[in-house]
Amino acid sequence: MNRVLGSSRNLSLTLGAASLALAACLSAAHAGPAMPRSMDPLIQNLDPSVKPGDDFFSYACGGWIKSHPIPPSERGWGIANLVQEQTYIQLHQICEDAAKVNAAQGTSEQKVGDFWTTGMDSAAIEKQGITPLKPYLDQIDAIKTQPELLATIAKFQVVGVHALYSAFVFQDEKNSEQYMIHLYQGGLHMPDRDYYFNQDSSTTHVRAEYRKHLVAIYRLLGENEATAKSSAATIMKIETGLAQKSRTLEERRDPWANYNKMSVAELAPKTPSIDWNQQFTIAGIAHVDTVIVGQPEFFTRVDSLLKAVPLEGWKTYLRLSLVSSLANRLSRPYDLENFHFYGTVLSGTKEQRPRWKRVLDAEEDNIGELLGQVWVKRYCSPATKARYEKLTNDIIEVYRDRIKNLPWMTEETKQRALAKLEHVGRKVAYPDKWRDYTTLVVGRDSYAANQMRIDEWWFHHEANKLGKPIDRTEWDMTPQTYNAYYDGSKVEIVLPAAAFALPGLPDSLVDDAVLYAYAGGSTIGHEITHGFDDEGRQFDDHGNLNPWWTPKDSIAFAARSQKLVDEFDQFKVGAKHVRGRATLGENIADLGGVRLGYEAFKKTDQWKSGQVINGQTPDQRYFLGYALSWLGHRRPESLAQQIMTDVHAPQFLRVNGPVANFPEYYAAFGVKPGDKMWRADSVRVVIW
Ligand SMILES: [Zn+2]
Repeated sequence: MNRVLGSSRNLSLTLGAASLALAACLSAAHAGPAMPRSMDPLIQNLDPSVKPGDDFFSYACGGWIKSHPIPPSERGWGIANLVQEQTYIQLHQICEDAAKVNAAQGTSEQKVGDFWTTGMDSAAIEKQGITPLKPYLDQIDAIKTQPELLATIAKFQVVGVHALYSAFVFQDEKNSEQYMIHLYQGGLHMPDRDYYFNQDSSTTHVRAEYRKHLVAIYRLLGENEATAKSSAATIMKIETGLAQKSRTLEERRDPWANYNKMSVAELAPKTPSIDWNQQFTIAGIAHVDTVIVGQPEFFTRVDSLLKAVPLEGWKTYLRLSLVSSLANRLSRPYDLENFHFYGTVLSGTKEQRPRWKRVLDAEEDNIGELLGQVWVKRYCSPATKARYEKLTNDIIEVYRDRIKNLPWMTEETKQRALAKLEHVGRKVAYPDKWRDYTTLVVGRDSYAANQMRIDEWWFHHEANKLGKPIDRTEWDMTPQTYNAYYDGSKVEIVLPAAAFALPGLPDSLVDDAVLYAYAGGSTIGHEITHGFDDEGRQFDDHGNLNPWWTPKDSIAFAARSQKLVDEFDQFKVGAKHVRGRATLGENIADLGGVRLGYEAFKKTDQWKSGQVINGQTPDQRYFLGYALSWLGHRRPESLAQQIMTDVHAPQFLRVNGPVANFPEYYAAFGVKPGDKMWRADSVRVVIW
């Protein structure tokens, strides 16, 4: 589900696209006991037929990958899935327990249980067919004028159907003490604007399949073949028109270019067809006088399309927007057609996950914190939280020392960087205060109705923030999520408990090399450096876009990061080149994370004593432990989609890319000139 009003776009996630739900908690900071070889992932996952200097990722993870094919229901398979499998079982029990107790109306248990029950009741879902959407389809049919069309678009935004454009409430990027409405490009039903234009074979295939998908959807809605084809052509015309004026992944990473604050009166002449006051009023948002427009040229294009495309075409478009956003809450024909395009064509997945997992995914996405409250009680203690907090503080302390001693940064900028680092909020394991869902209503009428009610609740929850002080207690991920993020406007890192989980390993056996690489480097270190990556560094210690670097330091930073752009531009996945500029922020964070984790590890007894575990030196185990963070593989379709839509490089490159810049890696594995991963000193990158 794409919850646009409420999605915070200024977030830097550790993982890509979907946030994956997760598992048990890894404890921190103890000396490494001898881990039995048979349980040691750093031994068991190896592929000794690969030289660590040729392809370190395949050396570290290849054995596991060969023996763990991707299940038909998954687009990829790896460590995140292993953790998620544990979490699925835990959340399944939580939902079953809630559904069983017959809880009083309005309680959290009733909400969790009823959402679960309507989602699992496939007989009722089949019987209802498209009926839950009937009132909305009727509204579309009844549209007679363009103002009525726009009014319907505004009403649909409230229930989670995001047609034509995106609107969300987020902090003003230049005044982080104030919430503002942001208007953003949107309205496409393929994942990115590039899908409408790229001419490579995988994208032209997706585009051809998209046309078929559109025809199939309109056939399901009762159109004959000829009409359905004409409807599909209308969609291609509208969406290609929107895509032409949509910005690329690279362009969307420039926070200055995507910040265009203007009064509603100033926006009006750019979009004379749209009465924005009316759009906001219908959505129940009063007194909006100023907005931040991400891409003004996109809205100019929206206006010209509104003039060019006849009303019937827009009604066709709205039907697609409605059905697409709820297809996976409807009966099988809609659900399966939706899965065929978005699951199989785009991601290569052969079959759907079992229903219970899909309903858990939906529940997690909609009311995940209600599950999280129970999950934390059962699976994550305050003592565990305290250990993660200590590890987080240890990594930040290392970063502080690194900044103080950076050879390329002036004293002036160092002082400001250190001040910003002190400001970074640290949310670790689980929230101190849970989100209040009291006013949310969940019923037993239908799965789709619950979805729309929850979307409506979220819309108002976000819209109600306007004019109020910033809520600094909220989390945008649940504690059971295997992921983490940095929020550039709130200036905080958020590290859910499950991000530290190591599936299948008792805490007592995890040595510090693994701990500092896996939790310290790839999670904590990664997130903390986001505040200083090519995008994050443009925000000051209060989370405002505000240049605080001296020109000399900006030039030095740009020169170093350009080397990383060059490194990743050279990587290829299938026929597609990795996009060094689009993935730069994440690659800087990975590079920094590996360094911070390593420097923290050097303070441990394991490193100082040179303790060998299962034949591996501390440094070997550190780099293998880092590779464990990205253990896994993905289907070619999913990799192609990742390169087109994701600011994260594919997992194997998140290992080989940063590691090849570390002299300690070369020394630990005897990597020499002539080995495929060898990089000359002159091109190796050090930023932090
Ligand atoms: Zn990241």
